[in-house]
Amino acid sequence: MNPNNVKKLKKKFPKLLAEIENIWCGDGWYGVVYGVCNDLQKKFPKIKLAEIKEKFGRLTVIPKSGTYPDIKKEEVWELIELHSNLSITVCEETGGMGSLRANGRDVMKTLCDSSAVLLGFYQKL
Ligand SMILES: [Zn+2]
Repeated sequence: MNPNNVKKLKKKFPKLLAEIENIWCGDGWYGVVYGVCNDLQKKFPKIKLAEIKEKFGRLTVIPKSGTYPDIKKEEVWELIELHSNLSITVCEETGGMGSLRANGRDVMKTLCDSSAVLLGFYQKL
């Protein structure tokens, strides 16, 4: 993600993202990342994140263990899963309407039609 967008998110969620240096996904997911951060911060005020990245075409958010009560673990993961499921409907490049695709070389990405053509992800999953 563009460093300026990372900076904006870190400014908005200083505690949650205190240990995040980079966000390893495209800028099209800015809104999705914002959404998951907003929900996490609201529901679990002490939580910190260890990593935010794209993996297998989905947004993957990893909370830092010990920064939220253990009894809430399932709630934390459920909330993250919700946003991860949303991410596979949003183009990671442009933020348009996307779907999960593959490039025939075992790489998956969530892209809109035009981004998919541009990047050679012709296979819809
Ligand atoms: Zn796109």
